[in-house]
Amino acid sequence: MIHSDKLKEECGIFGIVSHPDAARMAYLGIYALQHRGQESAGIVSSDRRRLHLEKGMGYVADIFSASRLERLRGTSALGHVRYSTAGESAAWNAQPILIDCWRGPIALAHNGNLTNAASLRHELERDGAIFHSTSDSEVILHLISRSRRRTLQEAFVEALRTVEGAYSLALMTPEYMLVARDPHGFRPLSVGRVDESYVIASETCAFDLINAEYIRDVQPGEILRIEEDTLEPQLPLPKEQPAFCIFEHIYFSRPDSLVFGRTVNTSRREMGKHLAREHGVEADVVVPVPDSGVSSAIGYSQESGIPLEFGLIRNHYIGRTFIEPKQSIRNFGVKVKLNPVREILRDKRIVLVDDSIVRGTTSKKIVQIVRSAGAKEIHVRITAPPIVSPCYYGIDIPTRHELIASTKSVEEICQFLGADSLGYLSLDAVLKAVQDSRNYCSACFTGRYPSNAGNGKQQGLFEIPERDRSSSE
Ligand code: SF4
Repeated sequence: MIHSDKLKEECGIFGIVSHPDAARMAYLGIYALQHRGQESAGIVSSDRRRLHLEKGMGYVADIFSASRLERLRGTSALGHVRYSTAGESAAWNAQPILIDCWRGPIALAHNGNLTNAASLRHELERDGAIFHSTSDSEVILHLISRSRRRTLQEAFVEALRTVEGAYSLALMTPEYMLVARDPHGFRPLSVGRVDESYVIASETCAFDLINAEYIRDVQPGEILRIEEDTLEPQLPLPKEQPAFCIFEHIYFSRPDSLVFGRTVNTSRREMGKHLAREHGVEADVVVPVPDSGVSSAIGYSQESGIPLEFGLIRNHYIGRTFIEPKQSIRNFGVKVKLNPVREILRDKRIVLVDDSIVRGTTSKKIVQIVRSAGAKEIHVRITAPPIVSPCYYGIDIPTRHELIASTKSVEEICQFLGADSLGYLSLDAVLKAVQDSRNYCSACFTGRYPSNAGNGKQQGLFEIPERDRSSSE
């Protein structure tokens, strides 16, 4: 397995209501969101009487054949891509989750992390609930199924009032779709229109692929009911201070997406410009670590006047696993992804622009690769402050002690990387770059969490005893 020391988004969702080609549109939608999760994918469709589900492990294009898409009959569809936290890469956690309860068939697709899911699950299990996955999302379905509220919509609101943490999600029934975003709005979720149909997606890049027009974001704390060509909004959840995830702009979202009302590419370029002002250095070339470092490196180059060169080339065609030769090759894992362009790097003073340093292990290897390609000086510039705290809202950040910046100073990290200098962008500058200093979560840089952080563990997945799970899918 090629290990990547990058933070990982845990999910992306896409939904479409009342469209003659719903399943194929959903397929394209989650294909565009593949960067938000590469371990499993699924689509559920509705023919207004029944729900049909197809899901599996791997990439969207590998899971869905033409015949599988044919089986997804109907005019509405809800898709999901997922990345799971370490150790729980399993088919029984793939989404959408489809259940059949006394209210009828219901499917759920969720992006985010519920911070009180462990205690809720414990209570539900003590009351006799039987869980089929280790995903926090399943808690919501149990709460809905057990609710005494008259309508499904009322039960949905009641369930959302019970859970805490981050959720941008959609619930599908044979007749309609309910869409919701938590009151802090941690994860993005947008609404668009294609032909006469409404679509929803974690990022607007999914709209572009199917020629849908962006209409607006789902507001924090808002629930939408979409049925045929009508969209009914309501705000039944308590109002909270928004806490949009700043990392969506720094790294997770695609640069061509509009996220939290701002184009990601614009934010990243601004971050690069601020980085050049805060951490200028005499150098010959600015080199981005592709792909997420590209927009900010352009900004750094524009502000500093130092020319930009693509001195590292990324291989985009690597699967999830890769077989290494028996005789170990130095830095193989990083080399197979990034190859240096020697004539650009040789004898040059390099500004190497990347978005973040997590454990530091990958950054160290990249520095080694650039050095062994002949670079004279390497000045690492990061478009984020040091990450010192884990995330409990849907991003897989390692535990505090694994984060290099939680135990080492900037000078020590620089030494560890083997770089000539290291500069992190200040939080002030990051917030200036997104032009909003009030409505963002930055807890992984500050340790100040905007809401209950649960029991201090990433709660996306529950640990369950080893057992034969082969029948769980
Ligand atoms: S803690 Fe960090 S990664 Fe998690 S939601 Fe907040 S800004 Fe995003």
